Amino acid sequence: MAATEFGLIDRIAAAFARPDPARAPLGIGDDAALLRLKPGHELVLSTDTLNAGVHFFADVPPADLGHKALAVNLSDLAAMGAEPLGFTLALSLPAIDADWCAALIAGMAATAAAHGIALVGGDTTRGPLSLTVTVLGELPTGQALRRDRARPGDVVAVSGRLGDAAGALRALLASEPTDPALLQALQRPEPRLALGRALRGLAHAAVDVSDGLLADLGHIARASGVVARVDSMRLPVSAVLKAARPADWADCALAGGDDYELCVTLPPAHWTEAQARAEALGVPLTRIGECRAPSAGESPGVWLDGAPAPVRRGWDHFGGSE
Ligand code: ADP
Ligand code: MG
Repeated sequence: MAATEFGLIDRIAAAFARPDPARAPLGIGDDAALLRLKPGHELVLSTDTLNAGVHFFADVPPADLGHKALAVNLSDLAAMGAEPLGFTLALSLPAIDADWCAALIAGMAATAAAHGIALVGGDTTRGPLSLTVTVLGELPTGQALRRDRARPGDVVAVSGRLGDAAGALRALLASEPTDPALLQALQRPEPRLALGRALRGLAHAAVDVSDGLLADLGHIARASGVVARVDSMRLPVSAVLKAARPADWADCALAGGDDYELCVTLPPAHWTEAQARAEALGVPLTRIGECRAPSAGESPGVWLDGAPAPVRRGWDHFGGSE
């Protein structure tokens, strides 16, 4: 791989499938990309940065990093119930290491192909190692799964298993041996795109669990003005995590982060249908609680096992954990 910016851009453009010209008539190479939405749809856009030393260890396998940078962004589209349309990649690299870049690009290209999303542009600069992906998606107008639509009486449910990624991260930080299944959850999260789309029209509210269940469900509760009650006995936690982290598996599941599962609220009348759709997709969907209206003088938020859970807004890059 030529160690120049333009050599790298050419390699990137070649590694990804060409966008569908009917949807993206100008792909990589012009001043900007052009995208065509289906009639009656609105644009959904999300961006996330992964910085070396903050979001990933600089020695993480580059193919996994390429996957994760795209996957965490696709997870945001999933949480809106959106269809992926295209994405951009802004790369900041201290130097061009040809093998490392090739593996990063291959990892990202495989994930893009798996989810049918085209790379439509980006930016390449020299600087501290960092990747910013911006995903663009579309949704039938008005059908987004928003955070502020939970209603009293709604069931609270979560997909997959919680806490595995945090279990791996805690072991890595303590230089302890890490279970391969937990490491897989940390390095290869799978965005729940099909589930998000399947829950359109059934769920009232949705969020993807990136900062830990309590923090992310708290976003729904406060935005919607409800109390979301969670029963810790119902949390979907893997046997592997319980065995690997006997002392803190529950904390991993409640506050760990990096799960990229969907947490949704839906009216009880839709629960059976939601479960059936999730099962058809092979994704576990577990009922973990319900929403109620706050009583007089009470604040909206999350209650855990009958008591208010501490307010966690998630990781604050300038203030630490809140
Ligand atoms: P400009 O100077 O107009 O910003 P650039 O030289 O930065 O253009 O980029 C040239 C073309 O290559 C643009 O179409 C841009 O979208 C694309 N591009 C640059 N870097 C990347 C990247 N990392 N991934 C995908 N496309 C990229
Ligand atoms: Mg540029």
